[in-house]
Amino acid sequence: MKRVFYLIIDQLAGHWEESVKIEGTDLPPANVKGYHEQGLIPNFSQLIDNGLWVKRSWNRERCKTVAALKYLATGSYARAETLYNHSSTWFLEAEKEMGFFEAAKRHYLDKLTVITTGNPFCKGYFYVPEIMQRIPAYYRKMAPSFRDEAVVRDLVFPWMESFPDTWGLAHAYISGMDAITFCPSYTEAPCGRDGSKHTYMLFLDGLIEEIVQFLKTNNWWEETYIVIASDHGYHLGCTVAAEAGVKTNNWCADHPEPWDCEVWDFEKGRSAGIPSNGCRRTTFILSGGALEAKYRGKTIEEAEIIDVIPTIAELLDVPYKCQGKSIL
Ligand SMILES: [Zn+2]
Ligand SMILES: [Zn+2]
Repeated sequence: MKRVFYLIIDQLAGHWEESVKIEGTDLPPANVKGYHEQGLIPNFSQLIDNGLWVKRSWNRERCKTVAALKYLATGSYARAETLYNHSSTWFLEAEKEMGFFEAAKRHYLDKLTVITTGNPFCKGYFYVPEIMQRIPAYYRKMAPSFRDEAVVRDLVFPWMESFPDTWGLAHAYISGMDAITFCPSYTEAPCGRDGSKHTYMLFLDGLIEEIVQFLKTNNWWEETYIVIASDHGYHLGCTVAAEAGVKTNNWCADHPEPWDCEVWDFEKGRSAGIPSNGCRRTTFILSGGALEAKYRGKTIEEAEIIDVIPTIAELLDVPYKCQGKSIL
């Protein structure tokens, strides 16, 4: 059978405007493309080098978790007037369309077990008629990295082991990266893995290794596709951050709208006139043992956040209409 492991990492920047570097280093702000090219995240790199990688994936709509998870659950930019406009997890009763997960479950019925920790659980998002693992409230008290580990180890893995022959779509949503904010992108001194975006990227790279090992240990690797995506990136070194008083590129500024900010030149004290759009720069990696040889080591220059779901739909042969298009 074919299986998809779909991992959403909140606020994982997929790429960055190339001219931006952390002062005093050769490092870009922590992001997948930049860190992959510098050899800092070997486990991500392993998936990228043996997968189909979108170098620049974009969120062209709202860069808010709740909105972007909608795009990652449905493959469509929901119409603005039906989208709840705040970052709280509260949803309009009107949003009753079927998200992809529910469509996949209904298409295959009992032949496919769909597992999700996806937040939110409502219809039109990651709702499935069966297994949904809500993160227990006390997880919120954990440090972000321990919380991410717990989601993967305590919620997702055991359920996959409970349905070894039928799990076909396993989804983990981890939000720790979104909590690593108002902090440096990079620190030289040890700061703990939750202390900067840099150390958190290295932690996430280790979590990727753990997931790959888990799939291999259970003999699922050869039939599994791994999809890694993010809802949005983050702001750093931009005009809005500078206006708020930030004095350096090495500071993650989790500012609200506008999403289309520009790169700030800290030496000259003015906008560099280049779009920054840190929050629009999402991650999209397709890899795994099941991926056909013709896609391996290939890259796609650009795609969008709404292209993730139609790609998964094609991999699982689920008929599903949406706005995005498969990258295959
Ligand atoms: Zn988010
Ligand atoms: Zn900004």
